[in-house]
Amino acid sequence: MRDVRHFIGGDFVESADGSSFESISPIDNTPIATVAEGGSAEIDLAVSAARQAFAEWSSWSAEDRAVVLHRVADGIEDRLEELAEWETRDMGKSITAARTKDMPRSAHNFRFFADYAAQVGTEAWDQPSKNVFTFELREPLGVVGSISPWNFPLMLLTWKVAPALAFGCTVIAKPAEQSPITASILAEIVKDAGVPDGVFNVVNGFGPDGAGEALTTHPDVDAITFTGESNTGRAIMSAASQTMKKLSFEMGGKSPNIVMADADLDDAVDGSLKGIFTNQGEVCLAGSRILVQRPIYDEFLARLVEGAEKWTLGNPLEESTEMGPLVSEEHLEKVLSYIELAQDEGAKLMTGGYRVTDGEFAAGNYVAPTIFADADNSMQVCQDEIFGPVEMVMPFDTVDEAIDLANESRYGLSAMVWTTNLNTAHRVAREVKAGTMWVNCFFVRDLRAPFGGYKASGLGREGGAYSYEFFTEAKAVVMKV
Ligand code: NAD
Repeated sequence: MRDVRHFIGGDFVESADGSSFESISPIDNTPIATVAEGGSAEIDLAVSAARQAFAEWSSWSAEDRAVVLHRVADGIEDRLEELAEWETRDMGKSITAARTKDMPRSAHNFRFFADYAAQVGTEAWDQPSKNVFTFELREPLGVVGSISPWNFPLMLLTWKVAPALAFGCTVIAKPAEQSPITASILAEIVKDAGVPDGVFNVVNGFGPDGAGEALTTHPDVDAITFTGESNTGRAIMSAASQTMKKLSFEMGGKSPNIVMADADLDDAVDGSLKGIFTNQGEVCLAGSRILVQRPIYDEFLARLVEGAEKWTLGNPLEESTEMGPLVSEEHLEKVLSYIELAQDEGAKLMTGGYRVTDGEFAAGNYVAPTIFADADNSMQVCQDEIFGPVEMVMPFDTVDEAIDLANESRYGLSAMVWTTNLNTAHRVAREVKAGTMWVNCFFVRDLRAPFGGYKASGLGREGGAYSYEFFTEAKAVVMKV
C-alpha cells in the first residue's frame, strides 16, 4: 500500500481532518494506496501557498524556469519504470504503453514547454502618423487550478501543468480520484528538481463537494484548465462563473472514423483498431463510430472483427498485453450497460460484447474487444461516449453522406478519414466539425498545434501558442513617441 499525501507549499501533508480514501487497482479490485482526501481547507492552504510563490516564480526569466523544468523531465525519465508500473496498477493501462508512450510524453511535455516559453515573443504596432507605438506585454496569468482525468493520468496532468509553470504561473493540481499515485510521485520529482515551494501543489480528492469544486469556486484562483467529461465541464463553468475565472476545457468525444472505398485497407483496418482499442477504448479521441463506404463495407468489417479477435487482452503488467481492465467496477457496469443497449437498439453484435471472467480475469474489470455493425446515428449508443472497447460501425454511400453522418453529434473532438483521394481528404478535413482531423493516420500530434474540441468537446485550445495565450494575460502598452 502506498501512502499518497497532498503536496502543499513544498510539504507532503495529510488532510487537516485526517480524511482519506483508497485507490483501487482495476487488475483485481484491491486497494493499492491510501490517499489523503482534501476539501476546501486543503485547497485554501494550497491556493495561499501558490499565491505566495507566484510573486517570485513569475519574476524568473523563462530561461531560468526552463533549467528547472528540464530537471523535472530528467526526474520523470530517471523514475520512468516506477511511474509506469504505478500508472498501470492504478488505472489498468498496458505497461508497454505506460513505458513507451505515457511516461516519455509526460517528460516531453516539460521539455517542450520549457523551451517554447523561452522562445516566444510578442507583437508591436507602429503608427508613425499618430506618433504612437504600441506593443503587447504578456504576463503570467497567476494561480491556476488544473483538474485532470484518469485515462492518461500523468500525461494529461503534465500537459496542463508544464505549460502553466513554463509561462510563469503557479499551480494547484487536482488529479482524478481513480488514479492519484503518479501525481504524488511527480510532486517528489518536482521537489527534488528544485522548483521553489508552493509553485506546484497537489490536492487529492473528489470533484463535487470536494477538492475539485473548492478549486473552481476559490476567489483567488485565476484560471481552471480542465480535462474530463462534458457534463463536468458544464458544472465547472457554472461554479467558476461567480469568480470570473479564465477557463480551458478538453472534454468528451464520439469521434467519426471515415473509411472511403479507395482507402489503403491495411492502414485503415490497423488505424481503426488502434483508434478504438488503445487504452481499452478509454480515450477521448477514440474513433468510436466507424463510417464505411458501402463497396468495402463487408470486407472491412470482416477484417476489423478478425483484428479485434486477435487483440491481446490480459494482465496489463505483462509486456505483451495490448488491452487491460477498465478503470473501475462502476465504469465496467456502465460499459456493459451500453453493450446491452446497443443490442436492444438493434445494432448487430459481431464480436465480443461480454465481461471476461476466466481465471485471473475474474477479479478484474475486463471486457472483450467489442464490435457492432449496422449501427446508425439514431441509436443512443452512436451518440453517447461509451469510453470503452466498444465500436459502432455503419455504412454510407457518398462523401456528402459521410460528412453529414460525421457531424450528426453533439461532440466534435476529433475525426479520421482514410482515403487515397486528395480531394476527398481536403473536403472531409474542411467540412467535418472536429478539433483534430487525422487523414490516413491516428494519434500523432505536433505539440505546437491547437488541441481542443468543437461543440461539447471543448472550450478554447491548448498547445504551443494556444497554451501561451491561455496561461498569460495580454496587455497593450500604448506609447506616445
Ligand atoms: P470526469 O469529468 O468525471 O473527471 C475529471 C476530473 O474532474 C476529475 O479529477 C474529477 O474529480 C473532477 N471533477 C468531477 N466533478 C467535478 C466538479 N463538479 N468540480 C470540479 N472537479 C470535478 O472525467 P473522467 O471520468 O475522469 O474522464 C473521462 C472523460 O474525460 C471522458 O469524457 C473523456 O472523453 C474526457 N477526456 C477528454 C480529453 C481531451 O483531451 N479532450 C482527454 C482525456 C479525457
